[in-house]
Amino acid sequence: MSYSQLDRPVQFLKGVGPKRADAFARLGIVTARDLLYHVPRRYDDASTVQPIGRLETGMDATAVGRVRSKGVIPTRKGLRIFQAVIEDESGMITAAWPGQPWLDRKIREGDTLLVTGPVRFFHGRQIQPREMTIVARASEVESKDGEAEEPRGRIWVTYPASEDLPQWVLREVFARNLGALLEWADDDEYLSKEGLARRRLPSLSRALTWIHRPEHIQQAQEGRRRLAFDELFFLQLVQAQARRRATELEPGIQHVRTNELIRPLHEALPFALTEAQARALREIFADMQSPARMSRLLQGDVGSGKTVVALFAMLLAAEGGHQAALMAPTEILAEQHARRMTELLAPLGSADTRVALVTGSLSAPERRAALEGLASGSTRLVVGTHALIQEGVAFQSLGLVVVDEQHRFGVRQRMALLERKDVRPDVLVMSATPIPRSLAMALHGDLDLSVLDELPPGRTPVTTELRSRDERDEVYELVRSEVAAGRQAYVVYPLVAESEKVDLLAATDEFERLKSDVFPDHRVGLLHGQLSAAAKDGVMRSFLAGDIDVLVTTTVVEVGIDVANATVMVVEHAERFGLAQLHQLRGRVGRGESRGYCILVADPGLGSFERLEIFRRTNDGFEVARADLRLRGQGDLFGSQQHGDPGLRFADLMADEDLLAEAQRDARALTAADPELSKPEHARILAQLLGRYRERVEMYGVG
Ligand code: ADP
Ligand code: MG
Repeated sequence: MSYSQLDRPVQFLKGVGPKRADAFARLGIVTARDLLYHVPRRYDDASTVQPIGRLETGMDATAVGRVRSKGVIPTRKGLRIFQAVIEDESGMITAAWPGQPWLDRKIREGDTLLVTGPVRFFHGRQIQPREMTIVARASEVESKDGEAEEPRGRIWVTYPASEDLPQWVLREVFARNLGALLEWADDDEYLSKEGLARRRLPSLSRALTWIHRPEHIQQAQEGRRRLAFDELFFLQLVQAQARRRATELEPGIQHVRTNELIRPLHEALPFALTEAQARALREIFADMQSPARMSRLLQGDVGSGKTVVALFAMLLAAEGGHQAALMAPTEILAEQHARRMTELLAPLGSADTRVALVTGSLSAPERRAALEGLASGSTRLVVGTHALIQEGVAFQSLGLVVVDEQHRFGVRQRMALLERKDVRPDVLVMSATPIPRSLAMALHGDLDLSVLDELPPGRTPVTTELRSRDERDEVYELVRSEVAAGRQAYVVYPLVAESEKVDLLAATDEFERLKSDVFPDHRVGLLHGQLSAAAKDGVMRSFLAGDIDVLVTTTVVEVGIDVANATVMVVEHAERFGLAQLHQLRGRVGRGESRGYCILVADPGLGSFERLEIFRRTNDGFEVARADLRLRGQGDLFGSQQHGDPGLRFADLMADEDLLAEAQRDARALTAADPELSKPEHARILAQLLGRYRERVEMYGVG
């Protein structure tokens, strides 16, 4: 990696000694570059900062002023109030903090404070700050030979600070070093003048100038956009590298379409494909018939008909003389897929469309027979758990792998599959988690995307209701009447990782209570994550067989299980679930003929009703996902899914969709033109790619 001043430790910067360097390290700032990218979390401009002379009683205002005098005043009731008189060119005002006398030790005369709060009348005008930041320290302002003074009357920036690195220290360090930092930023510039102009982006040093020292807020936003582009570009680049490795480095299979199996299935289907299914199939077929290896994500809401699409893809592989495998995250799901596919294929009556099932619970002779069928090629279609791709399972000619990802399989399993040297099948990943297209691109930029954004017609939407805990009797009544009509119900409790024991207790306690007090006449079962795999499987099978009426469970149930007879989903402590997760749970009911009910039980006091109300009003998974993203922020969704990622700090996946698409185009074009980034003009790009994604780049062996 080329050496840049920005790679030097912060300790070499002016005003940073070993002690401050330690404090910086605790904020995650180790190098000069880290400091340069430590951007303000807040901007206050003339539209928010009021001249002190114009503050009036009744306003809620932000002001910046220097402390003229200060002190602690006792009141008659024994309350101690810290007061400071602050002034700017326009006037002065008293700022008062009742009950915070300790501020007297923190704030000095001559300090500059940024305060926000209501202006009241109390022996004259008084501001009672809700928020206060010391933006400059008395002594420092005086001791700096003009260096520390910020442009006055413009924009006040507030940095993320910490106890041992207060705002005024950060500002002081920036005041003394920003000029040099910005000069060094040119070392990182990887876009040419034309490149910048074409994308209408500022240069890196200009963007960072605008971020740290904006003349108006729009500049800060423009600057952020540049950093967002960089982030998205390098993310897409590392993914483009992975994609190239998966799809191009080694040729894939060029599947041959004869329609020998595809046509009969079309004719036998009891329904017409939706427009979305037809589109996804066209995309998948085109990939499979091309010599490049397919690496595609099929995304669709619960019930959007992914299995049928996957089945057609599998038939294309089979009719061209290859084999196709579908991997499910659990045995029950594998069995479910195999059963469904067998039903759909029954009318074809062809030996080539027999679906084999390979799971851990096969007997030894069954397993031997199944593996023999795969090795000899007499079995064309197989469904199983991930045991299918382990060493020792030999295929005559594996041409397509469909991964039913649900929630369980992550990126790593997918990679393990791609890493196998002996087979290079096309890969189709199915995901039942509807996420906005931009998020899908950011998370799975290495995959192409097909979306089923349409449900087959004639579905009865699930009725979603919101109930407070006091109304639980009504909820139990609904469960009783559904069970009396021969149907089944789930009651779900949250399970939070940090306190699994406590939550488990809650589910088990509730199970006892529901069993003996609430539903004494019904068969109540319990399923949770601490059970052994075999025990879980046993409980799920009893529920599937109808031997359990009410299943008390945790979120282990959310993975795509289909119990057509289950019509009620009660979610306790619904406020503790993400909306996307609730949507998955809701997808478990209403899969059969009868109407499904999803009842969210929550405590109205917790202020979560609004969020749940959004969920109640829509059955559209993509809409739910967008709301979830908006409400929870992308950190949750994004950070948790990719291991060892720097995450996205500047890009906003909702707002920056265009930027993301552009970044993906650029990254793929660059990867096509210079796959190894070995041309001298791409040296800076390679350096930054390694700086940001060393772990992943090394894993893919690029560079
Ligand atoms: P997903 O896997 O996306 O949740 P499935 O493939 O399990 O959805 O489909 C759900 C149900 O809808 C299945 O019973 C399937 O046979 C049926 N189905 C699929 N496509 C259609 C369609 N185009 N029209 C009517 N029903 C369909
Ligand atoms: Mg399914």
